[in-house]
This record gives sequence, structure tokens and C-alpha cells, in this order.
Amino acid sequence: MRICTFDDLRVGVISEADGADRVSDLTGLVPAGTRPDQRVTALISSWPELEPQARAIAAAGGGVPLRDVTLRSPQPAPRTVLAAPVNYRRHQAEMGGAEGVYVNQEIKTIETYAGFVKASGSVVGPDEPIRLPLTGRRFDHEAELGVVIGRRAHRVGRQDALDYVFGYVPLIDVTMRGQEDRSFRKSFDTFTPIGPAIVTADEVGNPDDLDVRLTVNGELRQHATTADLIYGVARLIELYSSAITLQPGDLIATGTPEGVGPIEPGDTVVLSVERVGALTMQVSSVDGSA
Ligand code: MN
Repeated sequence: MRICTFDDLRVGVISEADGADRVSDLTGLVPAGTRPDQRVTALISSWPELEPQARAIAAAGGGVPLRDVTLRSPQPAPRTVLAAPVNYRRHQAEMGGAEGVYVNQEIKTIETYAGFVKASGSVVGPDEPIRLPLTGRRFDHEAELGVVIGRRAHRVGRQDALDYVFGYVPLIDVTMRGQEDRSFRKSFDTFTPIGPAIVTADEVGNPDDLDVRLTVNGELRQHATTADLIYGVARLIELYSSAITLQPGDLIATGTPEGVGPIEPGDTVVLSVERVGALTMQVSSVDGSA
């Protein structure tokens, strides 16, 4: 199922009918007093009980055409966003060395860095642009598979880890290059676009064999497969849950392959993840110009 958030943070499911996508409203499945930005988390938290009802609502047809709604971030307020640093070998190679983004600096991998936190407030959906807050600095796209946690995960072994996944989203880990701390450079407002929907794990299957591609203004910048992740999804959940209890609705950014490059106000970025969907984002300056 494709779970989305739309309009005034209603939660819905996207289904195809007669060749066109429609959105059916699932808001009535979550407790009436739920804060709007917590509805998706509430849905995920009770998914074993709610899934049959959600499937029935989707199968009943009806709903409204997808083009008539505004899609918001499919998870507007994750409690925690964890992210994998340097989780592809060829991305490690492009970051360091004589020609690298960080010239002649030694760049290690996730095996050394383990992980970092992105501010959960940096999450946005396709209804907002990526806003670049400074001039004269380099801002890069990082194409990533995002993981949405389905249930509380505490010290989960990799052999069981995929049982804790609710679904997957295309995720762009927008990054300012420079010597500031990694979490600061990646936590600016709008720097974690996700969407257009969370695709449930049953529809995605093996997350470690997905084609990922990112274009800027139609030019292919990144094209890779998650098969090349140094730590695949299960191992990331094992690593992070060993010290941080993961909760329903939490996000993991799994790392970016080679081909990262700068974005500028006025650009259009499209991230496509096989079986998970295509996220289109505009880029603007912080004051909304371009
Ligand atoms: Mn990244």
C-alpha cells in the first residue's frame, strides 16, 4: 500500500483505479484526538489491527483523484531521523582524494562513522521547496532509500530486522559541504525531503536490490543499486537499535551512492527508487526567490 499525507495533514492511501491514482481517506482510523502531524505515526503504531480496514477502504474505490489533493510529507513528524554516513564505496572515493569534494582529506566509511542524527524538523514533502539558506556555499543532493520503522526496535539482530520495517520512501539527504558538524550541515529546514508516499514493506520486498536514480533538471546525476550498500537495511537497524530504541514512524536514511553534486535555486530534482516511487522537489533560496 502507498500511505500518504495530504491537504491539512489527513492520512490516506493511494490506489490506482481505471489508470489513474486516487486517494482514499484513512484519517477516521486513527483516534480522533490525534495531533494531525502524529496521524501517520498513530496509523503505523496500530498497523496490525488497522491494516485490514485500510485495505478494505482502498479496495472499496471512491476517494478523490490524486491530482486534486496536495501531497504533504508522508511522515510529517518522525520522532527521530537517523542517517548512515558514507555507506557506498564509490561515494567514499568521490568525497576524498585529490579530486574529491573534501580535497585530500581521509574519508572513512560507516564502518568507522556508524551514524548521525538529522533534525526531525528538517523533514518536508513535495509540497515545499528545498530552501537553500546561504549564498556562496555548496549544497548537494544525496539520493537515498529511506526506511520507516514499523514497531519498537530495541537490540534487534539483523536476521529479524526487516520485520521491524513498516515501509520505504525516497529520501533526499540535502547537505551543505564544509567543516561544520555533519548533523548541523544536514539539519537545515527542508533538508530531508521524503515522499510522495510510504510504500509498505510487503510491496517492496528485498530493500537491498533497488535501483536508485536522481536527476537535476533532467540530467542524470546518480544511478546505483542498494545492493552496493556497505551496511544494508537489516544491518543498519541492528546497528542503530543496539543503542537507540527505534519507534514506529522513525526514519533511517540509508546513505547515498556516488554522483552527489550541487543544487541551485531554480533546479528541479527528481529521485526515483525502484518499487518505492519518484519524488520531485523544487529548489529555492531561503527567501523564496527562484
Ligand atoms: Mn546521506
